[in-house]
Amino acid sequence: MELDTSVESAADRQPSEVGAKQLLTLHCEQCNSVLGDSLGVCGQSAEHIMCVKVTNNVIISDEMKLELEGETTQCICSSLTCSGCVSALGRVVHAAPRHLEMLRSAFLLSRAKVKCYVLDSGGTVRSSDVTFDLKPLGGAMDEMTRQVRGHLGRMSRITTRWSRKDPCR
Ligand SMILES: [Zn+2]
Repeated sequence: MELDTSVESAADRQPSEVGAKQLLTLHCEQCNSVLGDSLGVCGQSAEHIMCVKVTNNVIISDEMKLELEGETTQCICSSLTCSGCVSALGRVVHAAPRHLEMLRSAFLLSRAKVKCYVLDSGGTVRSSDVTFDLKPLGGAMDEMTRQVRGHLGRMSRITTRWSRKDPCR
């Protein structure tokens, strides 16, 4: 199954919207613990929802292993479990080969283990019925770059002022 790789990497992905701009929370199928929300979703496949962020209810195993098959073949991953019911939820990718670099640092929640609560309608849907609309960062990255450059300029001016006032010099 192919993962949606429309943008460069997990860290470069923008929080997404679901279908008609609906906000969802992601819950454990077994015990309803909140695992994340649609703002943290950065990718998807038929089997997984890819997230940049999950809640503390998602426990990351200390054990790392090299995956030998499936979507994360050749990736070093740790398994994820639910803190509420200890159900297996999926895996987090620590390292990935270049052709799967978009998976690095991503939490892959198994659709079979996750259900979604739609905030607008107050209804629960199977995560397998949800398609997340993913948008590349584009303008948001340009805006962030502009802000960082602004901060750097201000820091540079402050540093210059301090160095002129430094009595030790
Ligand atoms: Zn659970």
